[in-house]
Amino acid sequence: MFLTEKKDINEVIDTLGKYKKIGIIGCASCASICLTGGSAQVKEMEKHLSGMGKEITFTISIDEPCDARVLKEDMRFVEDELKDTEAVLVLSCGTGVQTIGDFTKKKTVAGVNSRFIAQTEHIGEYHALCQGCDECRLNVSGGVCTITLCPKGLLNGPCEGHDGIKCEVNEDSTCVFMTSYANMSRFSEEENIGRILSPRDYSINMLPKK
Ligand code: SF4
Ligand code: SF4
Repeated sequence: MFLTEKKDINEVIDTLGKYKKIGIIGCASCASICLTGGSAQVKEMEKHLSGMGKEITFTISIDEPCDARVLKEDMRFVEDELKDTEAVLVLSCGTGVQTIGDFTKKKTVAGVNSRFIAQTEHIGEYHALCQGCDECRLNVSGGVCTITLCPKGLLNGPCEGHDGIKCEVNEDSTCVFMTSYANMSRFSEEENIGRILSPRDYSINMLPKK
């Protein structure tokens, strides 16, 4: 799931500023799960903007607005209304916002902030476990991502600050390398303990990614 959080409403209102006829698009996938872009949030935004005198030309929730194929299919339902729309407010991650902007060719306004790929513990508690580095080392790191879970982003560790269990930066957390080594022992992968992993090859991680 890609985690998003609501933007400050004042930023949204400022960006919509001169536009009077607004369409609102929500995301029925990730943004719906984290309560930033589901149908309830779309309705809430519609009520808010209508109350300010904006004309809401349409509202719609798209299953996956980040999927250009799904977007094209679903937007047929509001084809006519879109023609009469000046700006589209999107309650989805930045990928959805840009996919919608490219498709509609309208002024497109992001209604939420994009955070990270998230594991959902429960609604309201999320954890980043992976940053999509293009060169996954989980198979040799005991199944935990040290570059994401170590506050210093270390590939090889631990650093000298740990006390044998706890992280020196986050005292409430176990040093991720202790978890990594414990997992390696559990699965009899001792050959990986102490192995120095080669530096990441940033050339394969060049932007823009395709
Ligand atoms: S090494 Fe970590 S950041 Fe890279 S792909 Fe694997 S889990 Fe994701
Ligand atoms: S104690 Fe472990 S998790 Fe904490 S900063 Fe050092 S290596 Fe990273």
